[in-house]
Amino acid sequence: MPVSGEWFVPNELTFSAIHVRAKTEWVHLSLGDSGGNVGQGEITATQLDRDVAPVVARLANRLRGRRITDDTDVLTLNNLSVEQLEADRNLAAAVSGLRCAVADALSRLLQVPMVDYLRELYDHPGRAERKVQLYSNINRSMLPDDNGLVDRSPDSFAEMDQRAMEAGFTTAKCAPFDEARAPFKSSGLPREAEMGLNRIRATKAIVGPDRKLLVDCHSRFDLESALALEPELREAGVGWYEEPVDPIKFPDDLREIRNKAELPIAGAEHGYGIGLFTVLMDDDVLDVVMPDVKFCGGPVEAYLIGRELEARWEGSVSMHCPSGPLSLLASAHATAAFGNKIPLEHAVYEVDWRHEVLEPFEQIEGGFLTLPDGHGLGGRVDPVAVAMRGRSWTE
Ligand SMILES: [Mg+2]
Repeated sequence: MPVSGEWFVPNELTFSAIHVRAKTEWVHLSLGDSGGNVGQGEITATQLDRDVAPVVARLANRLRGRRITDDTDVLTLNNLSVEQLEADRNLAAAVSGLRCAVADALSRLLQVPMVDYLRELYDHPGRAERKVQLYSNINRSMLPDDNGLVDRSPDSFAEMDQRAMEAGFTTAKCAPFDEARAPFKSSGLPREAEMGLNRIRATKAIVGPDRKLLVDCHSRFDLESALALEPELREAGVGWYEEPVDPIKFPDDLREIRNKAELPIAGAEHGYGIGLFTVLMDDDVLDVVMPDVKFCGGPVEAYLIGRELEARWEGSVSMHCPSGPLSLLASAHATAAFGNKIPLEHAVYEVDWRHEVLEPFEQIEGGFLTLPDGHGLGGRVDPVAVAMRGRSWTE
């Protein structure tokens, strides 16, 4: 079935936010036409310095009443360059959310699931898997909740990972280096990294030798301390070394770390566009790039990144996904479409009602997400969940 030739004429934009825990809310946009067709995207601002909704509203104004045939129309109708998007994360988030909503609406109009839309759009042969393997990231479950701080002792990390391992995940991730932040007073391995290493050791004891433990450093180190930390992580049985320094801001430092490291180096969760991710791989900065559907340009761009880079470097793309169920669903469509070699990130145990945010419910079992049968994303933010736990508005 041809997947081009359809168009979408948006004339309505609404936003919704669902209170998750502490300061976190999952924020979504819905772009609709006069026939009741709606596409959605997530614009949760957990890693942004301000609210993205006003930026989305400004960009969506240029789409209003136009025949949209392709998600990149969001860029062309707003005269946006890739350079602008690489330089401005809020803008990249707004564009990514809109591109997701447009791709959702177009694949719904074409009556195909987004995973098939992505492959057919780019003549990708064969049928994609409907189940996507996930890895469990406990990070968001260990952040403050509505009652305040959560216990971040090594035992508490281990307990949370035990829950994930019992649920069937075979790869875990944590971000344990709360106390560390470069620059450090002493040279070599910073003393401030020791508590993080204790959390890792306690967690790895639960994860065991046959399952993987990935470690995210949230760019808390510098060149020297990152080099000193790498053998310690290896000794503790860690499976990858994520962002000891920011790969987009300090690619030369990260290249040097990667050259000397034995562990695979992962990162670039804030990057926009296939060009940037290709350069990071071509320049030997990273072993694994982590495009986030909320920043990288949305599911179509994520699919293109995965398809292109996996063909050149097998096992080089693992989507970053610390957000709500709509982002995970869009990421799962893209990941299934390019045929992932590494599991997709899933922020586990942030709230126990998470699955109820989508209609139909998010379906995760035994460490796998099952894509719903419907068209487009196949799931949408349930207005009942918004009424119960949040608010909706127009800009
Ligand atoms: Mg990360």
